[in-house]
Amino acid sequence: MNPAIESLEKTILPIVRENAVSTDTQGHFPSQSISALRSAGFFGLISAKTCGGMGHAPDVAAEVITRIAAECGSTAMVLAMHYSAAAVIEKFAPEDVRIKTATSDLTTLAFSEMGSRSHFWAPVGTAKQSGGNVILDGHKSWVTSANQAINYIWSAKPISAEGASSIFLVPRSTAGLKPGPEFDGLGLRGNDSTSVKADGVTIPSGNLLGNDGGGLGIMLETVLPVFNLLNSACSAGIMEGALAATIAHVTRIKHEHLGTALSELQTIRSFIAQMKIETDKTKLLVNDTAAAMIARRPDTMLRVLQCKAAAGESAVKVTETAMRICGGAAFRKESGIERRFRDAHAAIVMAPTSDQLYDFIGKAVCGLPVF
Ligand SMILES: Cc1cc2nc3c(=O)[nH]c(=O)nc-3n(C[C@H](O)[C@H](O)[C@H](O)COP(=O)(O)OP(=O)(O)OC[C@H]3O[C@@H](n4cnc5c(N)ncnc54)[C@H](O)[C@@H]3O)c2cc1C
Repeated sequence: MNPAIESLEKTILPIVRENAVSTDTQGHFPSQSISALRSAGFFGLISAKTCGGMGHAPDVAAEVITRIAAECGSTAMVLAMHYSAAAVIEKFAPEDVRIKTATSDLTTLAFSEMGSRSHFWAPVGTAKQSGGNVILDGHKSWVTSANQAINYIWSAKPISAEGASSIFLVPRSTAGLKPGPEFDGLGLRGNDSTSVKADGVTIPSGNLLGNDGGGLGIMLETVLPVFNLLNSACSAGIMEGALAATIAHVTRIKHEHLGTALSELQTIRSFIAQMKIETDKTKLLVNDTAAAMIARRPDTMLRVLQCKAAAGESAVKVTETAMRICGGAAFRKESGIERRFRDAHAAIVMAPTSDQLYDFIGKAVCGLPVF
């Protein structure tokens, strides 16, 4: 077994498991789990070894996110957003920021806006040059870890160049940043995803990542593959967790008057088989997407688009089936099924949403321009 996965299993997953229920019921950020991940070096899983990271490829990151998501969707999503933002920092930020991101500083993506909503590629917030500084104004609609991240990877219209956007490193402590109300959502209730308003936020010009106007390129080439892969891994983990909880329930619970376990009902076994097929199909697609990214295969972008659409929809289907199989028991919080059912619904509306992905994939296979 990969040493990172071994260490995750031994030292981190027990903590994540222990905190998963309270993270959901109280809607609190999973601080203990995230601290444990930080202490064990997992913030730097995909960062270069020269910057204090572990230098792992996307397949290991997907495995880590899947295993965490099987226990706690919120913790997995916080870490997936950190890796998605860290991928940008690895390519475009100075060494000191790369080192801190790999070792101590939680980061996240601040792309979606109140104005352009799920169309993350079209920010309406602005960036204006002012001497050696840039002044940002804008209103982000959802930022995971909004009150916890040290840095945001922030999109805005370009300063002066042509193009849809530019990307900036924005420390959360910068004056003029105002997070919205505490997150109180249906699922992923610990992911601290709230709105953030930038009102005349002044950052040094050096915090521009990549070229002015080069934001779309960064989003599509650097962020999208990592984000879609890890969002899919999160869905796969939620499915695995739901499947394990369902199997535990149906093999333990008996109709006492008949002396038979629920698993002895053919309909129950048939639904479990469908859950297992859907879960394994998703994992195969996630693995193949990671393999395509590593080998830079020509079909990488198609896989990147497919895996999130497929995984998101499958997670909804699988957790819905789990609710049905476990009957009234699944409605109770202690079952762990209804939490996964709620958590699973986030992926399909996280941008690129399933509907947008269907449009992109349809265009790609029909030979039309995708973006
Ligand atoms: C738990 C959670 C965490 C999040 N974390 C972050 C984060 O850290 N950073 C960040 O930037 N964003 C984040 N988001 C925001 C997310 O990426 C989306 O932008 C947001 O969920 C979209 O919701 P909306 O109501 O604004 O969508 P809308 O744009 O209003 O979409 C409404 C519906 O229209 C459909 N639709 C819209 N455009 C099209 C189209 N072109 N083709 C077909 N259908 C379309 C959508 O699929 C959706 O069903 C998060 C969201 C959630 C739920």
